[in-house]
Amino acid sequence: MGSSTSRLLHVFFFPFMAPGHMIPMLDMAKLFTTRGVKATIITTPLNVPIVAKTIERTKTRGNIVVKIDIQTIEFPAVEAGLPEGCETTNSRTTHQKMFTFISSLKMLRQPLEQLLQNHDHPHCIVADMVFPWTIDAAAKFGIPVLVFNSISVFSTSAGVSMRQYKPQMEVSSDSEPFVIPNFPGEIKSTRMKLSTPTDNKYVEASLSDLMKEVREFEVGSSGVILNSFYELEPDYANHYTKVCGRKAWYIGPVSRCNKDAEDKGQRGKEPSIDKHECMIWVNTKHINSVVYICFGSLTNFRDSQLMEIAMGLEASGQQFIWVVKKDKNEKEDEDWLPMGFEKRMEGKGLIIRGLAPQVLILDHEAVGGFVTHCGWNSTLEGVTAGLPMVTWPLFSEQFVNEKLVTEVLKIGSSNDNPIKKEAIEMAVRQLMEGEEAKEMRSRAKELGEMARRAIEEGGSSYSHLNAFIEELKALHN
Ligand code: UDP
Repeated sequence: MGSSTSRLLHVFFFPFMAPGHMIPMLDMAKLFTTRGVKATIITTPLNVPIVAKTIERTKTRGNIVVKIDIQTIEFPAVEAGLPEGCETTNSRTTHQKMFTFISSLKMLRQPLEQLLQNHDHPHCIVADMVFPWTIDAAAKFGIPVLVFNSISVFSTSAGVSMRQYKPQMEVSSDSEPFVIPNFPGEIKSTRMKLSTPTDNKYVEASLSDLMKEVREFEVGSSGVILNSFYELEPDYANHYTKVCGRKAWYIGPVSRCNKDAEDKGQRGKEPSIDKHECMIWVNTKHINSVVYICFGSLTNFRDSQLMEIAMGLEASGQQFIWVVKKDKNEKEDEDWLPMGFEKRMEGKGLIIRGLAPQVLILDHEAVGGFVTHCGWNSTLEGVTAGLPMVTWPLFSEQFVNEKLVTEVLKIGSSNDNPIKKEAIEMAVRQLMEGEEAKEMRSRAKELGEMARRAIEEGGSSYSHLNAFIEELKALHN
């Protein structure tokens, strides 16, 4: 390979251009630099400002001496049948466009090879799970590839079992439960909860093909890096190694590489609310008195559903921070809010239109509960903040993550109801009031402590990252 360890270890990080994938990989790159590894982020031109903003402060911080570089490769959006400049996903991305976007990602292969051709070779590439072809591209230059698996080991292993045993074929209806076979914990699911967010059979089949490629990518790669910590899902981590046969490193929660408020508030795109303004609001609240409601970076509800959420929050009587994927000036009259809602909720509820500084909010002591869609990053960020949750999954592996939160970790209650005022009211009350909530909160606090210990010196994630770095060094000796 021609590299030597006398040269600084150098890792290329190649994130998928969507917030739920990009944010943890940028955190991961920052984490690597704290161990003296040089990091380079590979992304497309329009994502450069987001990456640059997120890593900006690593250049000035005292304890980090190694800088993060950015290398760009072009994504031919128009050639892929997408609008010009379509280089990321957000809450306005339709399912069809998302599908076209994902299936066009292989057009990045040639530009990636070109980059590898012209650049000093890194010691390895950490590539997002949706770029399986990175292995072949990098093999031409003798560069090992690691997969970044951006979902939990619980849902990944469940997926492996489902693919192998197909229990969903054995039941007679979409609502009949089946046990996930050869999987610890007697976890049940239904066909209804396996659905992809589309009723287009062609799209569904293609997504299923992609998942097959992802599994092959994991097997063929030099190993899998996960944003999780061993103590969180030990049975499933063991299962993933012993039964699924994957080599894995658990180095999370990577969001913990952001130590101060500035870093916590600047992950990915600039939040839509001034961070200080947000903190001034929340600083006036008592400990555990505010519920935070956010359904990730991609979900867009109909106005009628937003109306139900607003009414449910008001009826719950709880203080809240609610993130809505709407712009303030999108419409003159905000007819997704009940008349006079904001006036009545002044001081009691904060609506963030667009993007919230999520980790900054979750880590605040006044926040006492999290209503979440169970995207893996949000789930782990909630765990790390030591928060009980109401789980409200909407699609894909979010339903599986829900099982981990409610049935295995027992720090959340699930909500299978449609988005209706009464369901929201009840869920929020249950989260913030009563004995069950207290018990969930105390378990969640313990897990939060475990998460924080895992990433500190001597913790399991700290050791996994050490082991990974040592292995990489040995590979190049
Ligand atoms: N996020 C945020 N502000 C928001 C919504 C999301 O900072 O208003 C961040 C969140 O902290 C997490 C990521 O975006 O790191 C979302 O990833 P997740 O896997 O939870 O869900 P997805 O958006 O992929 O559905």
